[in-house]
Amino acid sequence: MSPFRSHMDLALSEARAAAARGEVPVGAVVVAPDGSVVARAGNRTREMNDPTAHAEILALRAACAAAGSERLPGHDLYVTLEPCPMCASAISQARIARLYYGAPDPKSGGVAQGPRVFSHPQSHHAPEIYDGIAADAAAGLLKAFFAGRR
Ligand SMILES: [Zn+2]
Repeated sequence: MSPFRSHMDLALSEARAAAARGEVPVGAVVVAPDGSVVARAGNRTREMNDPTAHAEILALRAACAAAGSERLPGHDLYVTLEPCPMCASAISQARIARLYYGAPDPKSGGVAQGPRVFSHPQSHHAPEIYDGIAADAAAGLLKAFFAGRR
């Protein structure tokens, strides 16, 4: 077992890059079982005119393409904000082993609130979940972003 290393800093830098593009600042990173980063992404819903272009979805797509597989067993996903129901479902479909997320999302979150996708009876796979990782930094980015748009 290699020592645990958080990749939330990398996810936060993706969130900052998203904000610089005028996108809601959320970033995600997928880490392979050997500890290497296989994908990193930030929100691109506006740029791509795509409501599904959330950071998690883009990172999962890139990681699956790299792996040549629709599933990513043993992989970890880091994301700065609690995943929405769409992303939580995709994380489940991808068989992600561990989910690390930052700030809670009372408005759109689907993990600890709302539909609670992973504890729903229809959930086929639930990752281990670790929340509150660098939550203040992630929430601060979102707050600054939305304050700047007013
Ligand atoms: Zn989402």
